[in-house]
Amino acid sequence: MKLQSIMLPGISVQRPFIIAGPCSAETEEQVITTARGLSSKGVKVFRAGIWKPRTKPGGFEGVGIAGLPWLQRVKRETGMYVGTEVANKNHVFEAVKHGIDILWLGARTSVNPFAVQEIAEALKVSGFDGPVLVKNPVNPDLELWIGAIERIYNEGIRRIGVIHRGFSTYDKKLYRNLPSWHVPIELKRRIPEIPLICDPSHIGGKRELVAPLCQQAMDLNYDGLIIESHCSPDDAWSDKEQQITPDILSYILNMLVVRETKQTTENLMQLRQQIDEIDAELLSILSKRMRISREIGQYKKEHNMPVLQTVRYDEILADRIAQAEKMDIGSHFMKIILEAIHEESIRQQIEVLNK
Ligand code: PEP
Ligand code: MN
Repeated sequence: MKLQSIMLPGISVQRPFIIAGPCSAETEEQVITTARGLSSKGVKVFRAGIWKPRTKPGGFEGVGIAGLPWLQRVKRETGMYVGTEVANKNHVFEAVKHGIDILWLGARTSVNPFAVQEIAEALKVSGFDGPVLVKNPVNPDLELWIGAIERIYNEGIRRIGVIHRGFSTYDKKLYRNLPSWHVPIELKRRIPEIPLICDPSHIGGKRELVAPLCQQAMDLNYDGLIIESHCSPDDAWSDKEQQITPDILSYILNMLVVRETKQTTENLMQLRQQIDEIDAELLSILSKRMRISREIGQYKKEHNMPVLQTVRYDEILADRIAQAEKMDIGSHFMKIILEAIHEESIRQQIEVLNK
């Protein structure tokens, strides 16, 4: 695949590329307040669901076309880019007509080849030239995910990225949607040029999982994050348990450790060099300790004393293990090390004795 960048002018090329905003656009005020909060924290791309695929009828299915002018207002007043989910061709035409910058296909859409094909053709007909993001299908079917990407690509769309939102399961234990990280990692191996964005909100389904999932995505070299953020999460009309305020979002982003690939190998080399030096020191200290053991062996020989003195050994064990605990070294590990050193020490003393 020959893909083009999904980056937008004015956005830092440094990882992570951030998209944030409410699960759903609810009211004009909620949209504007959330967008202002996010913009003040430096977020440049705003998300809001306009058409919401809800699991059961009767749930909030989005405000529909009425919400598109609110997103236009966000663009006008904050200068942010705006993005929303499209699930059929009418959504594409309306979104394009209202100047939406980024479009994505939801998990319930990318699972359906007919819907993806219809959207791909609508994207082409409408001349949309912004980034198109393809969420993973609800089931962990990598070929289906790649198939959806290819359908978009085959209609001439070149600015394509993917969103990993996890996979639906019957049992909801820790996660709302199982991350199954190996699936997006394999996708990236098959299409290395495709930008990979993590959606920690839908994977975790809970506020407290957003931060660790963001960090995990960064550690796995993801390019971006799409995070649900709401000015008043407890009052959200959809996905309230997983939405976080712009303040919390900003805190989480500031705490993220983003390790750059190149730097990591350089740092790793330096760290490995330090390990080599410390191991050399350890060896020389051990050999010094053994030399002293042999001197003790010599003394014991001359004074006709037994090599093993259990009281002294018990004292050493108790004292060193207590010291180790203060230094954050596990007592079990310390005991094994001391036993090994002691064994070697006894062996060397017996050698001296038998000379
Ligand atoms: C969403 O992004 O709000 C959404 C409905 O996500 P998904 O398609 O991952 O369920
Ligand atoms: Mn949501």
